[in-house]
Amino acid sequence: MTGVNASPIVSALRTLEVGPVREEEPLRKHTSFKIGGPARVFVEPESQAGVIAMLEWVRDHQVPYFIIGQGTNVLISDQGLDAVVISTSRGLKTVEVQGDRLRAGSGVLLTKLAHTAAKAALSGLEFAISIPGTLGGALVMNAGAHGSSMVAVVEGVTVWDPIHGVHAIEASEAEFAYRQSRFQKTPWIALDSVLKLTPGDADHIRQTMAHHMDYRKKSQPVGEANAGSIFKNPLPQYAGQLIEQIGAKGWSVNDAVVSERHANFIINRGSARAVDVLALMRRIRAAVYQKTGVVLRPEVRWIGPGEGGTDTLWENLWYMEGIGLKEPCE
Ligand SMILES: Cc1cc2nc3c(=O)[nH]c(=O)nc-3n(C[C@H](O)[C@H](O)[C@H](O)COP(=O)(O)OP(=O)(O)OC[C@H]3O[C@@H](n4cnc5c(N)ncnc54)[C@H](O)[C@@H]3O)c2cc1C
Repeated sequence: MTGVNASPIVSALRTLEVGPVREEEPLRKHTSFKIGGPARVFVEPESQAGVIAMLEWVRDHQVPYFIIGQGTNVLISDQGLDAVVISTSRGLKTVEVQGDRLRAGSGVLLTKLAHTAAKAALSGLEFAISIPGTLGGALVMNAGAHGSSMVAVVEGVTVWDPIHGVHAIEASEAEFAYRQSRFQKTPWIALDSVLKLTPGDADHIRQTMAHHMDYRKKSQPVGEANAGSIFKNPLPQYAGQLIEQIGAKGWSVNDAVVSERHANFIINRGSARAVDVLALMRRIRAAVYQKTGVVLRPEVRWIGPGEGGTDTLWENLWYMEGIGLKEPCE
């Protein structure tokens, strides 16, 4: 869309009547970091059919696009995205209990899924109570905490891709690994999933969830703008411990600051830009490497052209895929 007036695209998308279509929408309003320049076009389809209609339209018209859930694991360029950004938060919202399984749309929050499972006395999603974001984002990241992750519960996913359209995949095809999945390498859009759980005791499930939430409140900077863990854990070591060892708590670049509470979190104190976060990440990464020989890899996903790929240090970590710079194939 570079150099092209976005308005004809907006008009065309509005005629599809699938939900709100906005121009130059600030993406900082849609990320937990409160960072990100404008989307040329931002759409919020109200139904699964609407999401599919949007995806088909951008495919047929060869317009760059980006799918966003809750924006809790992304660092979006200050320049914004010259693309159609499609939000799943309105259209993929159904949740259904089917015996010991949950069928849920990708726009459903993980916390809602955890509460739904607890209410139905189904165990397996207790870990998800403390992870912000949508089911779709959690599939892409194989999100996890408290010793479990999505791979433990996903049975199958309905996906859309530009070549095959809508089709079902089994969990094994998603190649889940630590904070990785095939969604990061394949243009699959997750529409809905079936999660296989285990019948359990509702009170015990709720107690476990309360325990996880308590732990989270004590160990992480709850209530401040951030994107969760910035770096993946170089297992068996922990990124937070390595960053703490080099004395980086409190380091800052403008309003981007390493959290005093958890060293693997960067906080936006107010007006941090994506370039500030990137500069701080580079500084941390270089210092950890110098002191320990460990190369930290980003967990947060860089979205956008420009800064993330211009520094040779980072070229090895992020590569351009479509409009987004994502992590490398390893
Ligand atoms: C305070 C805080 C704590 C956190 N704690 C944890 C934690 O304990 N464990 C953990 O694993 N993560 C954690 N995170 C990170 C984040 O919450 C998870 O990665 C979450 O699953 C991301 O979901 P999202 O909807 O926000 O995804 P987004 O940030 O919106 O998107 C992430 C990626 O997924 C893609 N995507 C989103 N939806 C779809 C879809 N339907 N189909 C295809 N691609 C899609 C996007 O294009 C993007 O590339 C934390 C984040 C915060 C802010």
